Amino acid sequence: MDLTPLNPPRRILMGPGPSDVDPRVLTAMALPTVGHLDPAFISVMEQVRAMLQAVFGTQNKLTIPMSGTGSAGMEAAMVNLVAPGDRVLVGVNGVFGGRLCAVAERAGGEVVRVEAPWGTALDPDAFRAAAKGRGFKVLALVHAETSTGVLQDLSGFRAVADELGALLLIDAVTSLGGVPVDLDAHGVDAAYSGTQKCLSCPPGLAPLSYSARAVEAVKARTTPPVSWYLDLSLIARYWLGTEESGGAARAYHHTAPINMVYGLHEALRIALSEGLEARFARHRRIAAAFVAGLEAMDLPLPVAPADRLPQLSLVRVPDGVDEKQVRTELLAEHGLEIGGGLGAFAGKAWRIGLMGSACTEDNGRLCLSALRAALGRQGRVVADPLPAFDAAL
Ligand code: PLP
Repeated sequence: MDLTPLNPPRRILMGPGPSDVDPRVLTAMALPTVGHLDPAFISVMEQVRAMLQAVFGTQNKLTIPMSGTGSAGMEAAMVNLVAPGDRVLVGVNGVFGGRLCAVAERAGGEVVRVEAPWGTALDPDAFRAAAKGRGFKVLALVHAETSTGVLQDLSGFRAVADELGALLLIDAVTSLGGVPVDLDAHGVDAAYSGTQKCLSCPPGLAPLSYSARAVEAVKARTTPPVSWYLDLSLIARYWLGTEESGGAARAYHHTAPINMVYGLHEALRIALSEGLEARFARHRRIAAAFVAGLEAMDLPLPVAPADRLPQLSLVRVPDGVDEKQVRTELLAEHGLEIGGGLGAFAGKAWRIGLMGSACTEDNGRLCLSALRAALGRQGRVVADPLPAFDAAL
């Protein structure tokens, strides 16, 4: 048995997530653990709820971090709303839309998929057409599709959901903290995220928000959700207090991951102290310069400019270039991680993230220069991307 202490390498995480964790978050996670019903922790919970409401752009009371990664948020958001036989309309233009379908089907939902080519956004009218005049319990779509780098415009989806009598559910795993999410402005009923993308916190919690209408839908269920661990009615008794006590007393459900909640608390404090508008502007500004650098190297970006996520760029690998070799070299030489393609883009694209605290000018420059050098070693000589990067800043 090897009992040497861990000594993980220091990386620069510019893949699709996890992203670099702010050192202040790691320091917060090392604070003393207290009990999950300690008054000191309850005040942390209240602060986290308030800060999550701010980043989600919502007044929803049920806005809490679920224990688990983004997928736990996805399951919780879906299985509390979907009972066997419920119809669910899901937009699929990448991996995570497909995963939403799988989760809804496991909950017994009858899923109708609204497909769009990978690398493009979804159109509200396509949902109308796929619904064929039928009613639906849930209309679900991904706000920031991490497998393709597409940012989904949410306007118009509340109107479609109303026509179908549906609750509107979004995946905000990669969007939260990097671009506006504005749940209330878009009339979203259920949303979930993850801590490890633009919030710059380690993976482990899934912020979730349910509107009053979604909470009513849960109360109206005649069968309990398939998951006990993710049952929001039970979890709300811990995070919001029990109804019998008027919210004064909290009931144990499962032991909250105390130190993860500290980490999220600090990550939210950092995001809100920067200011959400300033944070979004930083992502936009550095991403625009990064894209200018990629274009200077003649690297094609398959996603149309209007649909691009600032915090994640999909970059097509030029013919004849070994994409895996490039990633291996970036990691070995610079400790720099970028992602490979998924699904339709597997082996054909890189996914490069500029998320949260990793979204810096220095990281943009380093990644562009390292890519240029790695391409050169494979015989693909390209122009210096830095003048274009600097000019666009
Ligand atoms: N949804 C999206 C859009 C994601 O990008 C991810 C993870 O990358 C998930 C869901 C699942 O999150 P996790 O891997 O944290 O469980």
